[in-house]
Amino acid sequence: MEKLNRVGIMGGTFDPIHFGHLITAEEARINFKLDRVVFVPAGNPPHKKDYKVSDVEHRYLMTALATNSNPHFEVSRIEIERSGYTYTVDTLRQFADIYGRDTSLFFISGADAVLDILTWKDVKDVLSYCNFIAATRPGYPVDRLKKKLAEIKELYGKDVYLLEVTAMAISSTEIRRRIREGLSIKYLIPESVEAYIIKNGLYR
Ligand code: ATP
Ligand code: MG
Repeated sequence: MEKLNRVGIMGGTFDPIHFGHLITAEEARINFKLDRVVFVPAGNPPHKKDYKVSDVEHRYLMTALATNSNPHFEVSRIEIERSGYTYTVDTLRQFADIYGRDTSLFFISGADAVLDILTWKDVKDVLSYCNFIAATRPGYPVDRLKKKLAEIKELYGKDVYLLEVTAMAISSTEIRRRIREGLSIKYLIPESVEAYIIKNGLYR
């Protein structure tokens, strides 16, 4: 196997995956010189979503379709294959084991996720297994994000990198709403994912 030095990990529910996720991963890859970015569709996330999350195999396949054209992107089944609730800390520990000491891991997270990181299970361990990239996201002011990064530094002595991402005010929630209401979702998600959603009648 070729030697990998810098690997990005992009976690998410990806229900469905959209261009906001993809641009964030690509800009993280370029800015932090990552050899690859691994997308990790969430298995059974403990924080209750306010809607019924789609079957994990649908979310996995949509993520695979969306990332197929980028040779630096791959998709992991690591959370899908774990039973019970899936926590980021377990995922990062597993990646740290798989890649070993010669690889630096970079966990990529959007501003909204970073803002509530202190509520995550075993935050200290989460921060110890990897470098953390906090990506800006429309609707989440940069100054609030910077304050949170300072707080993390103060509590855990850990630097979190700030990444200013090309703004895409897109969310999966908005895409699901548009589909439910019969509105267009063109230019928000890759065409292959749109076709998959239509073929499988998702979010109706
Ligand atoms: P939902 O509306 O269902 O919560 P979402 O659009 O927030 O979906 P998630 O799967 O929850 O997508 O997000 C996965 C990761 O991608 C999170 O770290 C989130 O902050 C980040 N992210 C999602 N959309 C964007 C975006 N438009 N710009 C930057 N980061 C984003
Ligand atoms: Mg979200």
